[in-house]
Amino acid sequence: MLIKLVFGEIKELKAAVYIQPDKIKISEIDKPEIKDRGAIIKVNGCGLCGSDIVKLKHQLSPSGTVLGHEIVGEIVEIKSCNTDLKAGDRVLAGHHVPCFNCKYCLNENYSMCRDFKESNIVPGGFCEYLFVSENHLNNTVFKIPDSVTDIQASFTEPAACCHRAVKRANVKPGDNVLVMGLGSIGLLIGQIAKHFGANVSGCDLLKERLDLALELGFDNTFNSIGTALTSAYYKSTTNEIGADIVFMASGSENSLPLALSCIRDGGTIVVFSSIASDETGFANNQIYYRELTVMGSYSPSPKDLCESLDLIKRGIIKVDFASVYNFDNIERAIKDTLKNKIIKAYIKI
Ligand SMILES: [Zn+2]
Ligand SMILES: [Zn+2]
Repeated sequence: MLIKLVFGEIKELKAAVYIQPDKIKISEIDKPEIKDRGAIIKVNGCGLCGSDIVKLKHQLSPSGTVLGHEIVGEIVEIKSCNTDLKAGDRVLAGHHVPCFNCKYCLNENYSMCRDFKESNIVPGGFCEYLFVSENHLNNTVFKIPDSVTDIQASFTEPAACCHRAVKRANVKPGDNVLVMGLGSIGLLIGQIAKHFGANVSGCDLLKERLDLALELGFDNTFNSIGTALTSAYYKSTTNEIGADIVFMASGSENSLPLALSCIRDGGTIVVFSSIASDETGFANNQIYYRELTVMGSYSPSPKDLCESLDLIKRGIIKVDFASVYNFDNIERAIKDTLKNKIIKAYIKI
């Protein structure tokens, strides 16, 4: 099937282009085209992810990169032989697609698949239009139900990352789960762990985040002011045993000793954020003598995307805590995120 609609006359489009070391400039760039198969999506909006912030802060991307991957938009042109999607559909698109055949994929480490790492939307989410491949169309592009708003749908990818982490950690009914860091990722993890039947506590330094977590269904929240005090308080809420599972959703190095003092012997620590130092980690002997499991969880599979969209649609994951910025104000959104003035930015394109 070959459909071609609109989009034809546009020559250039607006994109937020990263320029090293620390600038984002709204510039005109060449429009992406469908060479063989795939689709062009007109971007309605894109969430600003913690990983975009890390890339900016630590200059991990070359100049010219268009960041952003939590996109929502409308298909304006499509050439595909294998999909029900059509021009006019409101969709979200996961940015990476695994091959489903390699050693990584066969062991469900989809986000480690080399195809997954190399595939991407072109040029990136902070842009008026972008290209998705046929492979994306077949696996990571989903039509958004009418009852789900653009902003809500933009949470599908981060929620899918969190959903996968909760599944990998094998969260069960009655488990004591502690979420460290109550930014948007921590808030999503906690809600999903609640959905899996766990008793969920959360800690953070900011009072408004502790309050919001309680509103979203956390059982208990507390200030992570210091390792000894905080872990003593947390343990008192778990009959002095500690957490079965700790999710590390804070980028602070201080959360490592806190995690070790809050986890129970034999428990699982899920590493879910990068920290500034590559050299810092969990103490070998604690892992050994206490039989701890330390696991990483990174990016979602296509199935996780589909499941998390469903959880958002059913209101099981509540995501109405984004602050909306116009495209021209993207730098402001980045600054406000860095200063912890907001929990999550959504950029309206
Ligand atoms: Zn993301
Ligand atoms: Zn693979």
